[in-house]
Order: sequence, then structure tokens, then C-alpha cells
Amino acid sequence: MRLPIPFLALFGLLAAVPYVSAQAPVPDRPPESVAFDFYARGPWRTDVVRPATVLGYEPGDFHTSYEAYERVVRDMAKGTDRLRSFRIGTTPERRAMHLHAVSAPANLARLDEIKAAIRRLADPRAAMSDTEREQLIARTPVIVWLSTTIHGDESAGFEAGLHVLYQLLGSDDPSIRSVLENVVVLLNPCQNPDGHARFVVWYNAHGRGWAEPFAWEKENPWNVSGRLNHAYFDLNRDLLVLSQPESRAAAAALLEWQPQVVADLHGETPSYFFPPAALPINPNLPRAQLEHWLDVFGRGNAAAFDRQGWMYFVRDTFDVFYPGYWDSWPSLHGATGMTYETEGGGKRGLRTRREDGTLITLRESIAMHVTASLATLETAARHRAERLRDFREFFVSSLRAGGEGPVRRFLFPPESDPVRLAPDGRADAERDRGWPPRCGGHGDRSPFPRRRPPSVPDLPGGHSDCGSRAAPWSHGAGAVGARLRTG
Ligand SMILES: [Zn+2]
Repeated sequence: MRLPIPFLALFGLLAAVPYVSAQAPVPDRPPESVAFDFYARGPWRTDVVRPATVLGYEPGDFHTSYEAYERVVRDMAKGTDRLRSFRIGTTPERRAMHLHAVSAPANLARLDEIKAAIRRLADPRAAMSDTEREQLIARTPVIVWLSTTIHGDESAGFEAGLHVLYQLLGSDDPSIRSVLENVVVLLNPCQNPDGHARFVVWYNAHGRGWAEPFAWEKENPWNVSGRLNHAYFDLNRDLLVLSQPESRAAAAALLEWQPQVVADLHGETPSYFFPPAALPINPNLPRAQLEHWLDVFGRGNAAAFDRQGWMYFVRDTFDVFYPGYWDSWPSLHGATGMTYETEGGGKRGLRTRREDGTLITLRESIAMHVTASLATLETAARHRAERLRDFREFFVSSLRAGGEGPVRRFLFPPESDPVRLAPDGRADAERDRGWPPRCGGHGDRSPFPRRRPPSVPDLPGGHSDCGSRAAPWSHGAGAVGARLRTG
């Protein structure tokens, strides 16, 4: 087939690209809009090694691999008494999933006591006087969960997590010390290590830092798709079904710690986003309480961004509705769940030119995530007691609503459910999923006693519903139950 002249000219142009790029990898470098000092919050503890010292490059100059991140944390841990790390799971590609707890040494020494206090606040069935509640709150730090990467190709959050850790472990700035005394920080560095690994290998091999918005390095190919996990599943849609091992690992850890604040870091939007969130808000959430706290944390972030002169926006399209997101699902468990979106990194690579000619860089995007994360921790520290008080109220109001509404209990009969009809061997799977036991139906291998739960009535028609699973409405997690019913 003959090609028309314009096509031949295009081929000629494409053939010249390698030559041009070899001569000038970064053809134009307009000024960055931000100069940010990652080391402004001194004095610094010299025993805690800086990430740049281990990695050999400063924040945003290169993409950090998951294994290099693990190495930095191991090296930083040698010089600090502010860190305890937990392995919470394993990915399909056999990477370890971690949760890093950072707090003052006195808090780390009594983590079990703190968890027990939080469990007590979250159990409205046990009576508690106001005096008892206030005494409990007075000696309990607020728990803040920072999830810094879930979409593996949104790279600024991953890098930011490392530098948030360094700030918390290495700085003796008064604001950091206040955070450590009042907060247990739980940093989940990467919810999706397998997807992030695909992205980083690809970008580090091919990315040159071209500023052109449509340079080919700005979109990882479909078979890289770092956003998705090993099974090419979007983990920020999975909390309703919990179909992926990474989701089950992190969800179990979240339920174990029961944080009062959760921030989930993402990218890339026209400028930085943090709450207040857009409507709709999930109707099963206590709207006034949630909106109050989204406003408090949003204003804390806004003040920090105003000091830097950075652009940001709120609301727009980021709602708190679908319960499978990492902001809504923790909110349904009593947390203030929030999504943060930074501008660059990820599909904008090391640098991208904005329409006004300035550059948005990976470094600047990391700086924004670090600033928002630290501002969130400072806000949580300032409002520790009020946030814990409202956390208790979330569960008390859920219990009250369950006892007052027209719907009091849901029954799930066994018909048509192959798991429930299976003669034996399924009880272990049900227990692993945290399902409540049911009467009868299991074979001899059932670990549950064969007894009829007292809360299960007979079904209409006179036959027993033994074998059904009963979910009473009036329990502390009523908001979750309500959402699952309609979800
Ligand atoms: Zn994302």
C-alpha cells in the first residue's frame, strides 16, 4: 500500500525523535512553582538516617522501589525509639505488607492498653458514665491512619509516606513532639505493592522527565497499569466485597486498631484536593458529625497550604458515598475518612508543564502530600479529646438508632447459598471471614457449638429458621450493616 505524503512526513519526524531526545532529554525547564525545604522542621536527630542518604537521591529526583523503601525503614528503625512495625499480610506476588506505628515511646510501650481503651469506647453495649468516659479519653491518644498508596501509579503518595516517616522519627520540632504525645500514627505505606512495583520498574526504565503533557512516559501501558493490583483489580473499590488479599489484610488491621482519622493519599488532580467532601454523603453516616470533622481537618490543611501559597480545592466530585472506598468504609466504622489528591507525580511523571508555563514536579507533589499529612496529624493532636468523644458518640448513636427504627434485625436464610448449604468444611472459611456462627448445618468439623442463637426468631409460616444468620440492627456497627443492606 502506498502511503500519502503527509504519512511519510510523519514517519520522518518520528524517526528523528531518538536523535533529538538523546541530545536534549529535557528540552525546556520552566521554573518550578514551589521551593520546599524537606528539612525545615529541625532540630534533627542524627541517629535517624535520612532517606536521601540511603537512597542516593533527594525527594522527587527518582522513583523509589518497594524494596528500597523497606530498606530505608529498616535503617531508620535502628536509630529511633518511636517506631514499631507490623507485618499485616502478603501480596499475591509474595511481597510483605507493613503497618508502621509511630508515637512517643511511652505510648508505644502500652499499645495493647490503648487498643483496649479504643475498643471500650467503640462498644456502646457496655455502660459507661461520663466520668469514666472522660477518664478513659484523658489517657488515650487519638489513632490516625495514613494510607499513602493504593493506586500504584500515583507515585507521589508512596514517596511522601517515606518522608512523613522521617519527619516523625527524626525531628524534635515542638509540633512533631506534640503529635507523638497525642497521636498513634499508623502508616500503611502501600496498599498495592505489586502494582506499584510494575509502575516503578517501567517508569524508571523509560521516564526521562519530559515536561510535555503528552509525552509517552506520562501514561503507563495497559499491561503495566500500576493503578491495579496483581489481579488487575482496583483496590479502592474493594472494601464492600473484600475480594482481594491486600484488602482483607488492611481491613483486618484497620478493624484491629479502629482509628478515629483516616487519610487516603492519591493523585493527580488539577490542584491539591482535600475535604470537605462533595455531596452525596452516605445517608447511614451521622452527617452533622462527619461534616463537622471534615471541616475541621479541611481548615487545618488549608492553613498549612496557605502558608506555602499553594492552590487547592474542596468538594467537586469527591464524595463520601460508596462504601467500598478507603474514605467511606472507615467512616462507616467511626473514623473521619478522607481522600487527598496531589497534583503531580504518577501519570505526570517527574515533571509536567502546566498551561501557564510553570512546572508541576514529583518533588512538589510529594511536598504537598507531606504537608497535608503532617497538618492532619497536628489537627488530630489539637482535637484529640473531642475526636475521641465523638468516636464514642458514633457507636452510641448507632446502637440507639438500631433500637428505635422500623427495622430491627436482618435474617439471611440458607436457601440458594451454596456456602451455607455445604455439608461440612465451610465453617472455617466462615469464621475466617468474621461471620457470626449459626445454629446447625455444619458437619462435625464445625468449631461452633450447635445451638440456636437466642436472637433468632422463627420465620413466618411456622418453620424454624435454624441455619439462618441473624444480623441485629442495634449494635455499634449498625451504620455498616445498613450500608451493606442497600449496597
Ligand atoms: Zn487514586
